[in-house]
Amino acid sequence: MLRTHTCGELRKKHKGKKVVLAGWAHNIRVFGNKAFVDLRDRYGLVQLVLDKRFKNIYLGLTRESVLVASGKVRVKKEQNPKLETGEVEVEVDTLALVSKAKPLPFEIFNPDVDTTEETRLKYRYLDLRRAEMLRMLEFRFKAEMVVREYFSLKNFVEVETPLLSRPTPEGARDFLVPTRNKGLFWALPQSPQQYKQLLMVAGLDKYFQIVRCFRDEDLRKDRQYEFTQVDVEMSFVTEEDIMKVTEGMISVLYSQMLGIKLGKPFPRLAWREAMDTYGSDKPDTRFDLKLEDYTEDFRGSGFLVFEREIEKGGVVKAVMVPELLSRSEIESFERIAKRGDFPGLLWVKSSKELSGPLANRLPEKLQKKLVRKNGVFFFLAGPWQKVCTTLGNIRLAAAEKLGLRKGLSVLWVTDFPLFEWSETEGRIQAMHHPFTSPKKGYESEINPDTPIERLLEIPSRAYDLVINGVEVGGGSIRITDSSLQERMFGVLGISEEEAREKFGMLLRAFDYGVPPHGGIAIGFDRLLQVMLGKRSLRDVIAFPKSKSGRALMEGAPARPDEEALKELGIKVEKD
Ligand code: ASP
Repeated sequence: MLRTHTCGELRKKHKGKKVVLAGWAHNIRVFGNKAFVDLRDRYGLVQLVLDKRFKNIYLGLTRESVLVASGKVRVKKEQNPKLETGEVEVEVDTLALVSKAKPLPFEIFNPDVDTTEETRLKYRYLDLRRAEMLRMLEFRFKAEMVVREYFSLKNFVEVETPLLSRPTPEGARDFLVPTRNKGLFWALPQSPQQYKQLLMVAGLDKYFQIVRCFRDEDLRKDRQYEFTQVDVEMSFVTEEDIMKVTEGMISVLYSQMLGIKLGKPFPRLAWREAMDTYGSDKPDTRFDLKLEDYTEDFRGSGFLVFEREIEKGGVVKAVMVPELLSRSEIESFERIAKRGDFPGLLWVKSSKELSGPLANRLPEKLQKKLVRKNGVFFFLAGPWQKVCTTLGNIRLAAAEKLGLRKGLSVLWVTDFPLFEWSETEGRIQAMHHPFTSPKKGYESEINPDTPIERLLEIPSRAYDLVINGVEVGGGSIRITDSSLQERMFGVLGISEEEAREKFGMLLRAFDYGVPPHGGIAIGFDRLLQVMLGKRSLRDVIAFPKSKSGRALMEGAPARPDEEALKELGIKVEKD
């Protein structure tokens, strides 16, 4: 070893000891014939004292150069209580400059000064030198160990599934990998969904995998093209079993990694209730600000704009922000309503008397009800789900403004609809994925002849885990009947032929004895982000892609050379 000790471990008890240290010159202060250098490694920082013998090294020394120094530990006259090694320093007797650093491209240890995230990502190895980042990498590794140990103790088996495969329908675009067999492509897995189900058919009743998945999706919402899942599948189980195993894993992680005890079982909210009360299928229940229904207050009230919506089958709901917001704050919430496609937002300010547009035209009984409260009411009228979602966004923005998004909320959302209507595609699609089972008793309704409105009402056996308003994971009990699975594809507009071609392996396997099974996948990066309270997924991944989806350090994606393209039979269009 080049060193006898690390820079973080020296204390008073090492007084008089000869040590050899190695690390980066974190800080250099020269005083005439003497210099003080804070030497840093992964474990901490300690002060080296260099006398004039080392003048030719310290005078030209640059920050972040690598040094190896030997010397004696002594107790400092002026101790630095802020530093763990602050009681001691090392009086250096040999010093080697091992690697001299060029001027730094940015202030590594002062993240907010004069740099951009892009620069930090380009020099990620420098950004990772920050203690916070090194702690994150250690945290991540330990959390993985905790997960592996948890599942191993429960007799699960980790199985590696292929990365080169066929597309899995998880709702995002695939990353395709060309082959020299011209025109044939691999797809990188969006999840190991089909493989884990096949492992159940194979008789492995408890599978898990910490696995990389790939989805070519919109990165605006802080996503990454490649991410890590804790993927789980079990046979001979119901929703309860999967939830219990997951609750165990999350609790062990919180207690071992953060010392936080979570109450079990986690609370549950049915999807409809979550939408209705919190305006979201991933409700943040750390604060109230619940949505309230005012449909009956407006029915037949003469308040025509709202009544028209009610007649069309819509609802009137409101969220009350318990603070007398300013006009410009109210306007920021109005913008959320516009984004939700509502031409306007009715707001009423209430503190002893009502104010706001049309406040005095509201039904009288309602005016009396509102005037008793202190705050601003935001009313919307329209189709239920749209009203809920938009008010849900206003609720979140209000909580942000009032500083309410603190604490911890962990819960399950259950009873998701099996299907949803996709506006962009103009067709019905699976809310989770097409392998999700409908609730018992609805199987016969899964066929292409069932009217769409009816299909949209069918509940599924899917569940999501939500922490602090973030969807951390989700799963379901699967369809295990090949005829039902085929009808499911039929409803989704996937022809028999196409289904056989894309999912043939699963459908075929179901013909040879398939156990009832289900599972879940937890987004591991997302979970770490929530546990560590980080701003972005990029803060919990060693080498993440940038906001715009590029690998800035590597300079990727990049264009391969012409020879390689030719071999793959690929001609690139000029743009
Ligand atoms: N495969 C699903 C996903 O990755 C999760 C599951 O149903 O187990 O989102």
